[in-house]
Amino acid sequence: MTADSSSLGRLERALASLRGLAVGDALGSQFFVPVHYPLLKRRELPAGPWQWTDDTEMACSVVAVLAAHHRVDQDALARSFAEHHDFDRGYGPAVNRLLRLVREGGDWRELAAGLFNGQGSWGNGAAMRIAPLGAWYADDPEQATHQAEISAYTTHQHREAVVGAMAVAAAAALAGSPDGPPAPEALLDGVVALVPKSAVGQGLRRARDMLDYGDAATVAAVLGCGRRTTAHDTVPFALWSAARALGDYETAFWTTAQVGGDVDTTCAIVGGVLAAGKAGAPPAEWVRHTEALPDWVPTGV
Ligand SMILES: [Mg+2]
Repeated sequence: MTADSSSLGRLERALASLRGLAVGDALGSQFFVPVHYPLLKRRELPAGPWQWTDDTEMACSVVAVLAAHHRVDQDALARSFAEHHDFDRGYGPAVNRLLRLVREGGDWRELAAGLFNGQGSWGNGAAMRIAPLGAWYADDPEQATHQAEISAYTTHQHREAVVGAMAVAAAAALAGSPDGPPAPEALLDGVVALVPKSAVGQGLRRARDMLDYGDAATVAAVLGCGRRTTAHDTVPFALWSAARALGDYETAFWTTAQVGGDVDTTCAIVGGVLAAGKAGAPPAEWVRHTEALPDWVPTGV
């Protein structure tokens, strides 16, 4: 295989994951609208089009930077986040301000390090956008984890946010394995082995121990489902849900959405991880209902 055809294969995988992420984000965000709550209970689709949110917008930058640089270039990534930042896409207040200041010439290193009294953000923003990077590195989960770590620092410097991104990228890389998707236990064991000690790692171990639970609401009550919008109350449940339904996008989506919490983000993570694998693509009808990706995302052709 030539270098060119291999990077094209990587881009195709990353784009497939990005589409899965966008569908999860766009459909998930529909269920913040109270009139749609009964639909969620009945697993019925709201009328389209479904608009995606900040999760997808940032993931588009991750894919664009990988396509251009074949790795994470932090300056290019921060610049892309800032240039494409659309205030109406549901960003958190800290990231809204950060990206505005970067766009005005500020240094992302200082700005991201200074958030939350110098602790950095431990929000789930670095994790929500990163599954396509894992898909890009599906042949090399260690590199996926390493590049995800680098990508996180551009906005989220707290250890939990960084490890959350590493975990999601590792999961997407393992789900997109050329040998086919792993068993649920193998997926979570693989992710746990790739991430450093942390609350996210602790949560992933608990998620591993709860794989045989049939009731997602119970698992979400223990692990969290993004109600606090931290990486550690978001990533373990999302990867529990993804691990149990690799290859079945619809089941994974409804299981994830029905417990509530930060639904666009948990569903974006789950959708991006599932669609990293060939069998995990979203239903074609769901893709049709989802707002098209922006035209600045490279398509490889
Ligand atoms: Mg969002």
